[in-house]
Order: sequence, then C-alpha cells, then structure tokens
Amino acid sequence: MIIFEIALPVPLRALFDYLAPNSTPDLLTPESHTTLAIPDQAIGCRVEVPFGKKNGRTLIGIIVGTKEITLNEPNSKLKAIHRFIDETPIIDAATIELCQWVANYYHHSLGETLTTALPKKIRLGEVIELQKEEYWLPTTESFGLSDTALKNAPKQKSALDYIKKFQPSKESLKNTDINSAILKALESKHLIKKTVRENNKQKPELLPEPFILNDEQKHVINNLVLEKFQVHLLQGNTGSGKTEIYFQAIGKILASGQQALVLIPEISLGPQTISRFQERFKANIVALHSSLNDTERAQNWLSAKNTQADIIIGTRSSIFTPAPNLGLIIIDEEHDLSFKQQDGLRYNARDIALVRAQKLNIPVILGSATPSFESLLNADKDRFKKLLLTQKAATSFEPKIELEDLKNQLIFEGLTEKSLAAIDHTLQKNQQALVFLNRRGFAPALMCHHCGWISKCKHCDRNLTLHHYPKHLHCHHCDYQKPVYHQCPSCFSPELIDVGIGTEKLEVFLKNRFPSVSIMRVDRDTTQTKNAFDDLITKINQGEPCILVGTQMLVKGHHFPNMTLVVVANADSGLLSGDFRGLEKTAQILVQVAGRAGRAQKQGHVLIQTHHPDHPLFHDLFSLGYDRFAQLQLQDRYLTEMPPYTHLAILAAESENSYSAEQFLSNVRQVFQTNLPPSSTLQILGPMPATLEKIKNRFRHFIQLKAKSRAELHHTLSASLGQIEKLPGQHKLRWSLDIDPQELP
Ligand code: ADP
Ligand code: ZN
Ligand code: ZN
Repeated sequence: MIIFEIALPVPLRALFDYLAPNSTPDLLTPESHTTLAIPDQAIGCRVEVPFGKKNGRTLIGIIVGTKEITLNEPNSKLKAIHRFIDETPIIDAATIELCQWVANYYHHSLGETLTTALPKKIRLGEVIELQKEEYWLPTTESFGLSDTALKNAPKQKSALDYIKKFQPSKESLKNTDINSAILKALESKHLIKKTVRENNKQKPELLPEPFILNDEQKHVINNLVLEKFQVHLLQGNTGSGKTEIYFQAIGKILASGQQALVLIPEISLGPQTISRFQERFKANIVALHSSLNDTERAQNWLSAKNTQADIIIGTRSSIFTPAPNLGLIIIDEEHDLSFKQQDGLRYNARDIALVRAQKLNIPVILGSATPSFESLLNADKDRFKKLLLTQKAATSFEPKIELEDLKNQLIFEGLTEKSLAAIDHTLQKNQQALVFLNRRGFAPALMCHHCGWISKCKHCDRNLTLHHYPKHLHCHHCDYQKPVYHQCPSCFSPELIDVGIGTEKLEVFLKNRFPSVSIMRVDRDTTQTKNAFDDLITKINQGEPCILVGTQMLVKGHHFPNMTLVVVANADSGLLSGDFRGLEKTAQILVQVAGRAGRAQKQGHVLIQTHHPDHPLFHDLFSLGYDRFAQLQLQDRYLTEMPPYTHLAILAAESENSYSAEQFLSNVRQVFQTNLPPSSTLQILGPMPATLEKIKNRFRHFIQLKAKSRAELHHTLSASLGQIEKLPGQHKLRWSLDIDPQELP
C-alpha cells in the first residue's frame, strides 16, 4: 500500500507518514488502494492531516514523497490524511528539491523550511487562483489629441504619455504617482480604456538606454556568460553603472523567453527602485516586498510560478519564488547583511542563490561596491568571474576623503568646528550635506548627575535610549518602553542628564545652528509609515540645500545628485567591534557612505571624525583601496583560521534562569565531542556567554564549532543533532543552530 511522506510545519527534523484519505490500516484489504492512480503526482500537493496527541491538532502539510509498504499486520499508528487541498501539485519539484537542500544544509526541519519559502496564504492552505490582470491601453482618440488639449491637466498629460508608452497593468501603476483619480479622468474623456490581456502576453523587452554605454560597460556585457551556470562578481562603486549591466543582462534573458530574479536589500526595495525597472522594461514585473498584503504576495508568487511574471524583484525570501523559466539571478549589494535571516531558519539567500543557479545551470550576477570577503576569495580562486566597473558612469568625481582627529578638540554635539564649517560652506554653495550617525534616538542613556544612576532596561543588559519624539525611554533590543523619569529613582535628585548623542539630538542642534535650512532626519523612527522613506528621498532629490542626519538606512544605493558633503560623526565604534567581521563591515559602510558624496558633476567631500586616525583600516582602505584592504584582512583571517578559510556553526541556547542554557550546552559539547571523526581538526569553543548575555529576560550562551572542512562540520552536526534533541532539560530553554553565522550572538 501507498504511504505519503509529508513535511509538516513543526521543528522536528523528520517527515511524517500518512495513509491516503479514508483508509484505515484495520480495514485495509489488498484491493483498497489509494484514490490516486499515480501517487507521484501527489508530490507538491497540500494536505490537511491530524497531528499530535490524540490527533488534537490539524496541520497543513506538503506531500514530498511516496513509498510502497507491505503491511503484514495492521499498524494502527498510521493515520490517514483528512483531505487533499490541491488536485494538482501547487509546489513544483524544483522548489521542493531546493528546500530539501536548504533543510539539509541548515539542519532544519523541511516543513519549517517550506513555511519560510511559501507565501502565507499558500502555507495556510487557501485555494488561490491567479487573477486576470487588467491593463490600461490608450484609445484611438487619444492619438488624435491636440498638443494643447491637456495643458491644464499636466498630471493627466504625463499619465497618458506613460500609458501610451508602456500599456501598464493596473497593478504596476500602484508603484507610480498615477492615482485612480487621474485614471478616472482620462477614462471619462475616452482617452484610455481597460482591457484584460490573457494568454497573448506581450513579448517582454528592454527599452533602449537613454545614453551611450561606456567602453567598460560594453566590455562587461560582452563578458557575461548567460547560457550556463556561472557566477559573476560585478564590482563597481555606486554610480559606476552596475544597474545598467543588470538591465542589459535581464534584457537578453527576456529575449530568450526566460525569467529573471533580482534580490535586493530590504531597505532599497522602495517604489523608486521598482519604477526604475518599469521605466526600462516593457515586461511584467512583480515585486515581493514588505508593504504588500498577503493577497498581493500570493498573487505575485503565482504569477512567477505560472511564468506570467518576467522579472521578479524581491528581498531575501524571494530566493524561494518558483519560476519555471528562470534564466538569471541577480543579487545587488551582495555583501549586505540583510540577505542572512537572523532567526528561525537562518539561511543566507546569496548562498542559496548559488545553489539554485547551479541546479538550474543558469548564471548569477553578484553586484557590489564592496564585495564580501567570501566573494572576493571565490573570485581570486576563479570560482567566480570578476568584472569591474572603475569609472563613474555619469561623469562625476571621486570624493575627497579626509580624516579628522577628534582628540583634544572642542566638540559640539558630536561635531567639530571644522565639520560645522564644512557644512556651512556646502550650504553656501546651495548644495546638500549628510551627517552619518548610526545611533537613533536622542541620547543612548539617561544618567543621574548626582549619584551616577543610569536608565537600564529591566529585561536586558542594555541602557534605555532616551527619545524625545515622542518623549520616552526605549530598549532597542526588546522594545520595552517607559516614560522618562523626572527624578532619579535611586537618590531622588531631579538632575537627570542625557549621555551621548543620537540622531534626534543632532537634528535639534543643527536646527539651532542652521535655522534657515531644512534638516531631515532619516532613521527607523522617521520612516515607519509606508512610503515615508521614499517621500524623504524624493524630497532630497529635489536638490534644495539641506542637511540630512541619518543612520545606516541612508547608506545604500540612492542617488542624491546635489549631495556633496558627508560627515561621518563617529567611526570609532566600528573600529573597536569585537566581532571578527567588524572591520569588514565598517569598511563597507565607510565606502558606501562616502559614495553618497558627489554623484553628479560636483566634487564630493567626506570628513571622517575619529579618535583613532592612525588606525590601519583608514590607511589601507583609503590609500590602498578596498580590494587591497580586503587582501590584507584576508591574510589575517587565514592566520587566525577564521572564515572564509574555516567554516563556523553556532549552537546558541537561552533560558529564563541564568544556568539552564549553560548546563544544556555543556551536555551538547559532550555530544559533539563523542561524534568527532577520528583525528578531527574541528574545534569546539564554549559554552560561553553571548555578548549581551541577557535579552528579554533570557540568559544566552553559545557554543561555536569551527572546521577547516565543511564536510567534517556537517558530518559532526548530522551525527549529533538527533542526540541533542533528546538531551534532558529542553523544556526549560530554547536553542537554535546558525550555520555560517554572520554575527556572533
Ligand atoms: P550603480 O548601480 O552602479 O550605482 P547606476 O547603473 O545606477 O550605477 O548608474 C548611475 C547613474 O548613471 C544612473 O543615473 C544611470 O542612469 C547613469 N548611467 C549609467 N550608465 C551610463 C552611461 N553609460 N552614460 C551615462 N549615464 C549612465
Ligand atoms: Zn541619583
Ligand atoms: Zn530590553
């Protein structure tokens, strides 16, 4: 008889066996076979099954395999599927295979991996069909329109021009400023009409570039290998024309009838980015980003799966989007940390992209101004093909970089007299300045001037950040919030002072100092609402002189043509980080933030304030360049036996009391030790406390495994995890595994 192997959304690293619906082992006769003629066709179908003690729960699972068994005696433990949700597979074999690889590599449950990979509506078992998309077309009347006909309605005029050029779908207009009122007006004037386009989908194409490609760009395009698996590392500063290379590569892929998948960091995926694609492609573009609702998400997923979508743009989790004709994967800002998920299934979308491409035998383009050290090493070893863009595409200058020694200087809310003068000078020239400070809030702590008491989070090892807008104290780790004290809770002194500087304080100071210009703060607090970030960017792009105060959010891929000065308020915390990737990350941020200055025909200027101007990072990075800096750092990694020369895994545990997690990890260590292969070089470090030992009232410890060979690491983990799952004391704690961690806990 046929048994269905089902992946269920539970943490257990196992598949679950079920019988066909309506069959029970007791009643089974040799004739009572499954209703499905070919059980293999059930693979990829969703089913509802009973689960747990006394079958008290119902779960939605996915059939991932079938097997034939002969039952000699009734096995009453086997239960039957309640019902099939799909008659034909909704999840294709390639997606299941990819998820199987991911589950294996990250030692995670396949069911939970599929949960991560699927849109919510699909995994909750809803039956969804692809809605027919409605498109706007220009009417014949609209072409006879006189030039002056819409002169009092400029928005309608530009909307009509857009519709004539692109014949856009209703959906795609959501990302533009053409709203429904404009469309209604045009429709009532009989200038445009709605239509449903079915199978006769237009042939997608890249529109001609509005400029002449430079020789470097031509060279790169000629050197792309697009017909088989090949990873390209496209390195070029912001503004060097990488996006144009993506467009050209996608254009070729679309011309050969294939789909392209583009992954970008969460922060860069705004309407601006999407409309940049829409302006250049006559194609069906779907975006998978955080402001979509569940229905839109499921629709876009379906349209990729049905090959309706030509270009799929999304963040990390889009790497799982099914696309049967996939011909190219692009990862922009490949070094970005947001491609790594930091909880649950801790996958790295960039690494999965490489595996997926290899399985499909298709190319990948990894783009960055500051590639990760892993990728640089891979390029060095000729595993990746390195392509360089060294010039600025739209003629502009490399910014002038200057270090400013903070030692013994007068400092005004974090800025020196010289930095303030530079800001003033920039404003005088009608240009824009950016002050980069990677700390939001008003001040990192509130302190009693009398007794030294400091506002601490009661759930974490952390100070509470003082916020003024709105006024409150806030833990940036667990989100705990409370009103601001008016009196020291320890000595009752009313003299409470704020310590340190956050973006809010800097904003207030700059407003007083430069009352006649607008100061814009860009951090997580000012960009909470939908489109707030994009609105700010639109405003900056209008080019009026202004000062931006911003955190890391501002660092990535945006054009600010009139921004010519960047002040890095404090580079020191990055220099002193204890993490082995600390300097790599700091260098990447510095290069990117410096790239904000001088993107147009104006000379840019970067001032980096630091107490450590002699730190080798500055010399290596700015005198020798990012690549040489990376080479020197890689030598260090080699000597200290750190990634990418070794492979890490971290098993972390947290418990409500201060000892359970550590005790559990001591046992885990034993398990690892007994499973080490003979003469193994694998090192086991810890248990040791996490950098922030207490977060959200839980105490955190971890063990680090370090191996020269990936195979050895995975072998040890596979041999151990089953035993670890059975260790005592699990109910008192939570534990998790992080393969190839980007940050130490
Ligand atoms: P990156 O992705 O590397 O930051 P972009 O591709 O966005 O760079 O290019 C930066 C700017 O230069 C864009 O406005 C783009 O339209 C323009 N650009 C790209 N290539 C050329 C070119 N060959 N000539 C003129 N402008 C170009
Ligand atoms: Zn006090
Ligand atoms: Zn907290």
